[in-house]
Amino acid sequence: MTNAALLNVEGIRKSFRKPDGGELLVLDGIDLTLREGEIVGLLGRSGSGKSTLLRLIAGLSKPAAGRIRYLGQDVTAPPPGIAMVFQSFALFPWLTVLENVQLGLEALGLPAEEIRRRSLDAIDLIGLDGFESAYPRELSGGMRQRVGFARALVVHPNILLMDEPFSALDVLTAETLRTDFLDLWAEGQLPIKGVILVTHNIEEAVLMCDRILVFGSNPGRVLKEIKVDLAHPRARLDPDFRDLVERIYVEMTARVAAEHPSRRVERFPGAGIGSILPHVSSNLLAGLLEEVAGPPYDGEADLPVIAASLHMEIDDLFPVAETLQMLRFAEVAGGDIRLTAEGKEFAIEDTDQRKRLFARHLLTYVALAAHIRRVLDERPSHRAPWSRFADELEDHMSPDAAEQTLRAVIDLGRYGEVFAYDDRAHVFSLDNP
Ligand code: ADP
Ligand code: MG
Repeated sequence: MTNAALLNVEGIRKSFRKPDGGELLVLDGIDLTLREGEIVGLLGRSGSGKSTLLRLIAGLSKPAAGRIRYLGQDVTAPPPGIAMVFQSFALFPWLTVLENVQLGLEALGLPAEEIRRRSLDAIDLIGLDGFESAYPRELSGGMRQRVGFARALVVHPNILLMDEPFSALDVLTAETLRTDFLDLWAEGQLPIKGVILVTHNIEEAVLMCDRILVFGSNPGRVLKEIKVDLAHPRARLDPDFRDLVERIYVEMTARVAAEHPSRRVERFPGAGIGSILPHVSSNLLAGLLEEVAGPPYDGEADLPVIAASLHMEIDDLFPVAETLQMLRFAEVAGGDIRLTAEGKEFAIEDTDQRKRLFARHLLTYVALAAHIRRVLDERPSHRAPWSRFADELEDHMSPDAAEQTLRAVIDLGRYGEVFAYDDRAHVFSLDNP
């Protein structure tokens, strides 16, 4: 016998309009059910549409297609039984903790005494007892985040939507808040019936969720649903916990072809001129290559192991690993990173040889870098303004993505000494600095 459904999401599609008039498809074919007593995780990299889905569920925006029902009713406006917790809260600096929490109840038109009583209860519950009359500026980041939780819980919502609520906190504070939340949840003390937790932190998802929907990007979609059957309290070092983390890495590094059987399997996905490039530091590229090349990995490593030893989350690690893949210095698949012969060569060479190798790969495998170099070679002045390439990229992507992509290729070009860029004049050139 399964519990009643609090929320049904069926076939959700959402797109935004691009500057050139085209559509950016952000979510496609999303199905999700939240039942009473469940914590469901939406796990994916930055840009996979998690926050967009949460806003749709909260009734703050409308889908292009599909249906969202809360307790059987179509969601067309923010339902009173759904509350949100964010990465950081806009607390009112001139209001005390108690007044900030009471704000959560203002819209409900309750008697003043009831508002006060419920607010004090929520403050107690979330561990802020004694801080009722403190002002936000007097609180640490963790305590401020607790005020945010109290403000959401004070309305006694059926569903709590949490959008990366621990990601702005330091490691220890985040873990304390997570375990406090889980303890209250397990003891049935929280005035909520179900939770959807958005996160890009794999371990956090395994620690907290009953089910995890692993999201892929472009467009955002569910790659896999993973049930977490581990008993609470969960231990990160438990072999079953580690196995599940590993399994999720494998899902997240699966080849695109597995999801789109019609597409050819590319061993190295191409970086055509319209590709959005992640902006990663060349230090990190060289650092990761050296790490994987050295002992104990010897050229091949488990991504979760590397992530743990370098203290990197997927949003930091995956862009670096994928840039190495784009440059053919490594392959990423099955939750592993494996250096190519050239990747291993890079790791043992001196700086000059490294730069030469890097430049060759950059010009061969990254179409945008080759394009910029060609334009500069052909112009008598050997110079071209930023706008020359930004305009071109904006035919393919949003202005933000174009800026990020140009910044990324500038760093790669500088490192390989393939071209130079003057940030004050906004000009690309072949000057050697
Ligand atoms: P996540 O929360 O997984 O990081 P988001 O839901 O914030 O992802 O964003 C998904 C994609 O939708 C991104 O490419 C983002 O740039 C785009 N996006 C989000 N909101 C808007 C908007 N209001 N207008 C245009 N594009 C948007
Ligand atoms: Mg988000």
